[in-house]
Amino acid sequence: MEIARMTENVVAQPVSLFEMAQKQFDQAAAYLDLSPGMRAFLREPMRELTVTFPVKMDDGSTRVFKGFRVQYNDARGPTKGGLRFHPHENIDMVRALAAWMTWKTAVVDIPLGGAKGGVVCDVKELSQRELERVSRAYVRQVGRLLGLDVDVPAPDMYTNAQIMAWMMDEYAVIKGHTEFGVITGKPVELGGSLGREDATARGGMYVIREAAKMLGMDTAGAKMAVQGFGNVGKYAATLGEELLGCKVIAVADIGGGIYNPKGFDTRELFNYAMRHGLVSGYPEGERISNAELIEMDVDILVPAALENVITAENAPRVRARLVAELANGPCTLEAEAIMQDNGIYVIPDILCNAGGVVVSYFEMVQNAYDYYWDVLEVHERLDKKISAAFATMHARAPEFNNDTRLAAQALAIERVANAVRLRGWCD
Ligand code: GLU
Repeated sequence: MEIARMTENVVAQPVSLFEMAQKQFDQAAAYLDLSPGMRAFLREPMRELTVTFPVKMDDGSTRVFKGFRVQYNDARGPTKGGLRFHPHENIDMVRALAAWMTWKTAVVDIPLGGAKGGVVCDVKELSQRELERVSRAYVRQVGRLLGLDVDVPAPDMYTNAQIMAWMMDEYAVIKGHTEFGVITGKPVELGGSLGREDATARGGMYVIREAAKMLGMDTAGAKMAVQGFGNVGKYAATLGEELLGCKVIAVADIGGGIYNPKGFDTRELFNYAMRHGLVSGYPEGERISNAELIEMDVDILVPAALENVITAENAPRVRARLVAELANGPCTLEAEAIMQDNGIYVIPDILCNAGGVVVSYFEMVQNAYDYYWDVLEVHERLDKKISAAFATMHARAPEFNNDTRLAAQALAIERVANAVRLRGWCD
């Protein structure tokens, strides 16, 4: 599963995520020379679909599910973005996440727009067969909006390669032939790309490496804390140790956190979580809460779970030197401003976690050519793409008071606005 599990004792903030996305947009847009029409257009999604569909459950009953797909902007190419299966999914979140996908594909400069979707459901309550029926039924509803040159979904929170395979197959049934490129994050046996599984975390590690170089920080032996142990968090921990030589001293998931000042053997943690579902029950190490993890004395803090876990309330107590936002929207606007004021280097989510969509784009390219790359080629190309995006963002940061969020966001808006202008949609 992509982005990690829900975290305990992290109170979800009663804020509209989409309002937060619009505020981020407004702050960055203020630095740019955009016409009022362009501004108004870019702060709203272009297309949205809400669907309601019945699914026959294993016990013979019928349950009704709600799903969404928001295509935020397709000026730069087909819209792209994940599907979340989450009990708290709602159109407001999906809008925000679709906006972030638009800025994300633009900031790493891949020829795609942004979208997001999801189904309101709790995968833990569904059998595999029920999960398959929900996945297929969703595609029957939103399939009319999808297409390899229209809109291409991918995995996200609580969805995975198997779900992508069912969806790709259902789409093939509708079309009468298979189009692998209509969805990414597929199993490798069915047109998936090598290196997609850990791509989000790996991309984040490449960017941390670049940021550390620039800060004069040696990552070897640097203390790292990772919140979330889902598909992103578990690879962030292992790759943090294996690629960067970091000492991973704290990890957490929905069940709480664990701390070991000497650094964990992250492979062992990974295997433990694979066997037991949660990492928080790992018998060695001191128990800590998710809230404590955020405030630990570390060099690198990696929030890789839910939105809004760092807020104006706890941001003043963040002690890390570098915060790498591997989740989508883990820090509120106020929290980011406080941390940047305190001299903490923040790598904003739209850049930090773009590795997943970059390798999704590589998957689309490989599907189009029906020619598959080896994993080293995927890693090298990902490194090149995301490191170049970091360098551009960093070089432009002085124009934006050295605020990395503003710089990344503005860079992205500029690119989308240029495409909109060149198409002749807005002046
Ligand atoms: N769900 C991932 C994200 O939030 C990847 C999206 C994709 O690969 O299209 O970036």
